[in-house]
This record gives sequence, structure tokens and C-alpha cells, in this order.
Amino acid sequence: MKHESQRQHVVDLCLELSRRGYFAGTGGNIMLRIDAHLVAVTPSAIDYQVMKPEDVSVLHLSDLRQVDGACAPSVEASLHAGVLRERPEMGCSIHTHQPVASALALLGEEIVVPPRWQATLGPCLPVVGYAPSGSGWLARKFSRKVRGDVNAYLMHNHGILCCGRDSAAAMQAVDDLEALARALLNQRIDQRVTGAPADLEHALQRTRDALNDRPIS
Ligand SMILES: [Zn+2]
Repeated sequence: MKHESQRQHVVDLCLELSRRGYFAGTGGNIMLRIDAHLVAVTPSAIDYQVMKPEDVSVLHLSDLRQVDGACAPSVEASLHAGVLRERPEMGCSIHTHQPVASALALLGEEIVVPPRWQATLGPCLPVVGYAPSGSGWLARKFSRKVRGDVNAYLMHNHGILCCGRDSAAAMQAVDDLEALARALLNQRIDQRVTGAPADLEHALQRTRDALNDRPIS
């Protein structure tokens, strides 16, 4: 099998993202740069637990023509390709519906990134407006938002996309984005709690417990 190590790496990354709770079912996908022309992409609609390296699609980055792989590529391949074409220094792009950052994406607000997260994420989190998954419309909207200094994007009413120079950097961005989203949502709850009536305070406390993975009281 050609490009076996990169295709195995895509499978391993999917399993790790599932283990960390960022990928669920078949939701979420990855593009990994193989060389200047080729990329490896998760196949469409295959459970990560049974995915094999030969299922991983190999595509030309320029036109997404498939050159290898037993399955059709992810419908979001064009989304990742837009990022990797604009950012030739990036080696890996990850799209997830990870729970907390996707909740932040529901707000539809561009976020200024605090200094401690800027090295991995960049100075801000742009919002890409909603369009149906896998559509050319979404890919075009996304590519217009890609910036040379931004490694994390909020996709309104959908999820997120992070990129990095290699898979470790992209994974770190996914982790950091989830931590930043949790901190920001906690901050919003704190602001609401101040001066809130007792029943609202209790409801906010339950939301905070869910957000921080504590048992609901
Ligand atoms: Zn998605």
C-alpha cells in the first residue's frame, strides 16, 4: 500500500480524537499533507473504531482527484483543502464537533484570543457563517476566512476547524481551543450569576457543572 505510514497516522489520530471525546460516531475528519501535491483524508461515514489505513483516501490537493483509497473521501475534504492550499506551511487540518468549542460556535461571535493561547491558536477565532456540511457553499465561505496567522476557526451552528504545522500542533490547537471555550463560557456564567434570583442561580450552577464535567446536583 502506498503512503501506508501517513494513512495509518490518520487512523491513529481519529482514534485519539475519539478517546479525548472530540470525535463521536462518524462526526469529525482530518486532512494530513503527504507532500507538495498529495494529502491523506479520512474516508466518508466510516466508524473510527473499524477504519483501516487502506480506507483512508489519498487525493491531489489541487483538485481533490482521488488517487488511492478503498472508500470515498470525507465530504468535508474541500474545507480542509481550502486551508492547506492557503497555508502551505500547515501539515494537518482537523474538523470536529467537540462539545464545548462547538457550544461557543453557536454564539456566532468572533473571539479575541487571550495571550496564553495565542501561540497555538493565533490572535482571534473567526466565525465562518453556516452552510450545509459538504457543500461547495461552505467550502467557499470558509476559504474566504482563512488567515495566515489564525489556526482555529469557529463554524457557526456546526463545529470547529484547527490546523497546525504537523499533527501534534493541530492536536494541541484542538485541546487549547476546548480549554479556551470552557474558560470563556464559565466566565459568561459567572457574570450571569451575580445578582441572579435563586432559581436562576441554581440553573446556572447546573449548567456550570455540565460544562466542567462534574456530576449534576
Ligand atoms: Zn462537521
